[in-house]
Amino acid sequence: MTSISIGLVGLGTIARAQHLPAIAATHGMDLGAIASRNAVLDGTPCYANVEALLQAEPQITAISLCTPPQGRFDQAMAVLRAGRHLMLEKPPGATLSEVEALRAEAAARGLTIFATWHSREAAAVDATRDWLVGKDLRSIRIDWHEDVRKWHPGQDWIWAAGGLGVFDPGINALSILTKLIAGVVLQSADLHIPQGRATPIAADLRLRAGDVPIVASFDWRLDHDEIWRIGLTTDQGTLLLEDGGARAMVDGAPLAAGPNQEYARLYARFHDLITTKHSEVDLAPLRLVADAFLTGQHHSTAPFQP
Ligand code: NAP
Repeated sequence: MTSISIGLVGLGTIARAQHLPAIAATHGMDLGAIASRNAVLDGTPCYANVEALLQAEPQITAISLCTPPQGRFDQAMAVLRAGRHLMLEKPPGATLSEVEALRAEAAARGLTIFATWHSREAAAVDATRDWLVGKDLRSIRIDWHEDVRKWHPGQDWIWAAGGLGVFDPGINALSILTKLIAGVVLQSADLHIPQGRATPIAADLRLRAGDVPIVASFDWRLDHDEIWRIGLTTDQGTLLLEDGGARAMVDGAPLAAGPNQEYARLYARFHDLITTKHSEVDLAPLRLVADAFLTGQHHSTAPFQP
């Protein structure tokens, strides 16, 4: 197996919790260097920014970007222009047009670009998709509720324009939804935005896929255990996909469950894409969020106190 030396950019919450262990566990991939303005990792070459890393480490052939979506475009372009393969945390960019530009740049240079959606790799998502085959889908309900203070402490970028607000977790649900079924269209949205902030703390979406109605409720104002659930009602029972896709039940009976292998699967896929000279960029989840920002009714809510 070809060994790929990878550079990790943005040593924050998700890089430490998921990317570092997943890279360490991925056959044929090793961590070559880190770029972070403030953080360092003992025993690994560290640089203040991606440009310095790219210049100093020519043997690093792939970069994984774990920075916030705002500002990621320039970092991503620098990676591709330096001739390195690129993996992007979700959402792949702050806008659709910048991700399209990155896709075109990678294609023109014969490089791999991989826009990841980690929740699609959750343990029960594939089993759910298999279970839906041959069934008549009647309706879908998404509830994605969590405590923003627990999951996003100190993340000012998430409240700034381009930071998505409650769509930062909500887009995970939409990434699963658009893996399960095709042709999802947004009909209307209500966005609840705290005074003085640019992004919503809660959002209610009404969508359709053909004649299947879909409602989604995203809310960050929960003060107890999170709910990350998608309910799919069919002519042959109701499947509840729980815990962000980790567990599926059909009419109360377990269908599938498993440990969290989301990032291990993403890095294995990145390795495959590089070695087979392919790319993967699916913008469907980000397009639905963009549509919600385009058409959503804005409602001003109480200021958010961190
Ligand atoms: P985070 O904890 O705020 O970390 C982001 C890191 O990026 C920071 O440590 C920071 O390191 C670096 N950075 C570079 N430019 C920055 C800027 N302008 N503002 C703030 N930080 C900047 O964020 P995160 O939770 O890891 O999220 C990063 C990305 O991963 C987001 O797109 C998010 O949606 C995604 N993600 C997060 C989670 C999660 O549970 N947290 C799960 C899945 C995906 P330096 O300051 O040292 O440069």
